[in-house]
Amino acid sequence: MTRHSDFTVTLLGTGTPVPRADRFGSATLVEAGDQKLLIDAGRGATIRLFQLNVPIGRLDALFITHYHSDHTSGIPDVWLTGWLESFFGTRETPMRVIGPTGAKVLMSKLAEAYADDIKIRLADEKLPPEGVATSVEEFNHDGVVYEKGGVKVIAFEVDHGDLIKPCYGYRIEYGGRSAVISSDTRYNENVIKYGKGADLLVHEVAAVRPELMREAYIQRIVGHHILPRDAGRVFAQTKPKLAAYTHLVLLNDAKIPPLTLDDIVAETRETYSGPLQIGEDLMAFDIGETITVRPFRY
Ligand SMILES: [Zn+2]
Ligand SMILES: [Zn+2]
Repeated sequence: MTRHSDFTVTLLGTGTPVPRADRFGSATLVEAGDQKLLIDAGRGATIRLFQLNVPIGRLDALFITHYHSDHTSGIPDVWLTGWLESFFGTRETPMRVIGPTGAKVLMSKLAEAYADDIKIRLADEKLPPEGVATSVEEFNHDGVVYEKGGVKVIAFEVDHGDLIKPCYGYRIEYGGRSAVISSDTRYNENVIKYGKGADLLVHEVAAVRPELMREAYIQRIVGHHILPRDAGRVFAQTKPKLAAYTHLVLLNDAKIPPLTLDDIVAETRETYSGPLQIGEDLMAFDIGETITVRPFRY
């Protein structure tokens, strides 16, 4: 596969728990130099990697932002499918997983849950046991969590709600450039702190018509996320070369339709006038002197 840049961020899944076919669960691929980092593995992450011809078994590390299932339900698939003997799998060394406190329990319980599959494939397919092992690193505060071959990843805590902890965003630095992934968060000063000077800032967003805001359950959901005009305030203070939306929480009910993407842009424009892109699945951002947006061609 031809590489467009030595530093590319690709949105694999720009959705939420809603099982839409066009917006898969949260997952973002970062390619920096010869390394491939996956941030979250929501529903369908393996399918998106396969569409990009990225071998699932050859990821350098998986980073987890938080433990909501829309960010983790694809992990067993990435882990076990990446182990299969195939052109897309064939992992022969332990899968490296880095996440806030909770990553070790998650991965060890997954190993328990899939013990029969692992036992069968070891015996029947003679797959290497090291390839299904995991190497898990946990952290519990802001700081560098990965450093290898000129790629540095810094975790920073964000605010996804009082009961949704831990939750972290990531700043990835390579060759003097940087990309920041907000994770799920409401308006948060730490995103501004770690997002400052970033080339690319990928932020979550939630949008809802005012008449639906009367509903208590809608208020609860919105309270865990950021509205476009507040995301605009984050972008205006961080001034990235490009701001992009992912994890589009588009709320509606039987009578009230969701806001459109144009509405989201218009609402963001109330507080931010810089470069802005609404993400879609498999949209890539090549980070060079400038940032090139490359929608996927099916
Ligand atoms: Zn989420
Ligand atoms: Zn979440």
